[in-house]
Amino acid sequence: MDQAEPVRTPASWVVVGLDNGGTCNNATVLDATGQYLVDHLVENPSLVQEGPESAVEALAEAFLNILELTSTPRTLVRAVGLDTPGPASATGVISSKGSTNFNQVSWHGYDIRGALESRLGLPVIYNNDANAAALYAHHRHFGAEAMSRSSVAAIVGTGMGGGVVEKGKVVSGAAGMAGELGHVQIPLHGVLENDQPVPACNCGFEGDVESIASLTGIKNNLLPYWLSKFPDHPLAAESIGKAAKLLRGYGEKEDPLALAVFGQQAKAIGKLFTIAANFTDPDAYLLGGGVVEAAPRFRQWFLNSVREATQLRQEQQAATSFALVADLDMAGARGAAVAALERVS
Ligand SMILES: [Zn+2]
Repeated sequence: MDQAEPVRTPASWVVVGLDNGGTCNNATVLDATGQYLVDHLVENPSLVQEGPESAVEALAEAFLNILELTSTPRTLVRAVGLDTPGPASATGVISSKGSTNFNQVSWHGYDIRGALESRLGLPVIYNNDANAAALYAHHRHFGAEAMSRSSVAAIVGTGMGGGVVEKGKVVSGAAGMAGELGHVQIPLHGVLENDQPVPACNCGFEGDVESIASLTGIKNNLLPYWLSKFPDHPLAAESIGKAAKLLRGYGEKEDPLALAVFGQQAKAIGKLFTIAANFTDPDAYLLGGGVVEAAPRFRQWFLNSVREATQLRQEQQAATSFALVADLDMAGARGAAVAALERVS
């Protein structure tokens, strides 16, 4: 934040991007020429635990704050992009069963997009947070060519999020559930060891990408197995949750156990990208999440391992690229703003 560039004031009309998270909202402003007016995280408390009314007020406050910070008159705002964690419909209605962030009954089936639109009196365009991040990754990777290109993004965090982008637009699907890449089941041959149990995901599937390529997958599935092969490893003395979080540091030091775990994650993502290659044949395979913040040598090893595990035809190898995408802490707000800009320009 101290490295932030000066905040700019807009030359023409703008859209605002609002990223709603479990503890904070992050806001940004994007002008009609595609320039962000802020270059750093601007956060305020999201108050989602206090229920929908407080949370919508907090979003309205984030909107006003970011206009004030960028000296943007409200009359210049054409639309607002909003993203939240899912599951939610394509039009921003929170799942009728609630979710991790929206567990109070008052949230179940709540139309957060519509509520914010009424509160602000401006069009609000909704995406789930994984799709917003994928959209930002796509535009950041392709720049001026974004609207003629396609990509698939896998973002490895607590779970595995991502999205599918075609010609610069997110594929959202009939029910808003396209691009749930973490829950695509993959062939496990060549990924798991012969005596390794088939990993289970919180969604009820076995052997999907998230059951392997996520922090939850490390904690529940991969690390317990690999610690049984390395019983004297220092991580065996830690709780499994803490050990899972410490594992990346060991990977950066080329620890054999850590490389075995992250190698399996890379293979799982490679299997997913192989499915994508035969499904939409994208121009780019993008990788984001915690691994991008790791030491350069380790993250390059991880990207190379994913590339090696992705089976492309010769023609595809010549036509496509693999890349890590950075700045994902701002990706939600920026992706939400990109979606809003596309809608109104
Ligand atoms: Zn799953």
